[in-house]
Amino acid sequence: MSRETFLRTVPHALTDLILPRRCAGCAEPSTALCAGCESDFRALRRVRPELLPADPPIYALGRYRGNARRAVLAYKEFGRRDLAKPLGSRLARAARAVIDEHPERLGADPVHLVPVPSRPSAVRARGGPHLSPLVRFARRGLGRGFGREAAVVSDCLRMRREVRDSVGLDTARRVRNLSGGVVLRRGRLPEVGEPIVLVDDVLTTGATVACCSAALRAAGREVAAALVLVAARR
Ligand SMILES: [Zn+2]
Repeated sequence: MSRETFLRTVPHALTDLILPRRCAGCAEPSTALCAGCESDFRALRRVRPELLPADPPIYALGRYRGNARRAVLAYKEFGRRDLAKPLGSRLARAARAVIDEHPERLGADPVHLVPVPSRPSAVRARGGPHLSPLVRFARRGLGRGFGREAAVVSDCLRMRREVRDSVGLDTARRVRNLSGGVVLRRGRLPEVGEPIVLVDDVLTTGATVACCSAALRAAGREVAAALVLVAARR
């Protein structure tokens, strides 16, 4: 565990031992995410960032503001991994709704849930790929099809070290920053033609989704849809 990871996660873990669990959204004593804050992740909607093609369709469970924003940041940056389960089960329900909406694209099982990768320095700072536990809970929530897995996690993308943090960049600059920065892990790729749903936590410009889709497309794999926890309003 790096010093940075230690400082981010251990104080929270110690606090959990001393104080009762608090909701990561509203900070009221509760489970990891209280019912009220969980409902902020129930408004599944299609989002269409400017300058991006309509394909793949992108869906968001909530908005990047208020308690939902606090909960996502607590999960992502402050080690509240106890949110993987409640957020993962919301994600599973949303994925089911998106699959039902696009039977032509997503009707065949298994559906591959592909987490959007983070920059290696961010992965180190967070003590691992933070989306993985969330996506694993989502897969479990999707359950089984006819005697086989309805969904599998395919962790087939990674980001090169040279990619810079894109905070503050506009869409065009983000695309330039990311271009060539998303690379495939060949051994983990879904088969050609198998349905893929990209999963990310926060959508801002959509540049990351676009670059991940382009990297997969270059290898003959089409992203059927993208699903994000929250989308920022731009
Ligand atoms: Zn709450």
